[in-house]
Amino acid sequence: MIKKETKTEEIVETKYLCDFCGVEVRQTYTFCDVRCCICGRDMCPKHRVDYREPGDYNGGDYTTMICTECNKTSEPYFEKLKILLLNYEEEEEEILQEMKNVCMENVKNKGDNNEF
Ligand SMILES: [Zn+2]
Ligand SMILES: [Zn+2]
Repeated sequence: MIKKETKTEEIVETKYLCDFCGVEVRQTYTFCDVRCCICGRDMCPKHRVDYREPGDYNGGDYTTMICTECNKTSEPYFEKLKILLLNYEEEEEEILQEMKNVCMENVKNKGDNNEF
């Protein structure tokens, strides 16, 4: 006797949905492409932007993505960082100039009294 039974297998599929609009997000290269590197929410191309900290000029092929919301939140902080960097550059220049001046003073003083 032959008895045929139909079996249904349950397949569990993991899908990543954009936390902002619910669109399915395809994982492309790295997790950082689909998941916000700050808040960890999944994001579709519409809801993600390149993340680059002020002063990080070595970008290029490697980019990190963050969600549009974190991008908006980080704007005033990035402004603060930019000002900080600007002040840093100015102060750095002042300090280096002072250092050079002292070095030149030393040379001048040595010429005057041959002391070590
Ligand atoms: Zn989205
Ligand atoms: Zn985020």
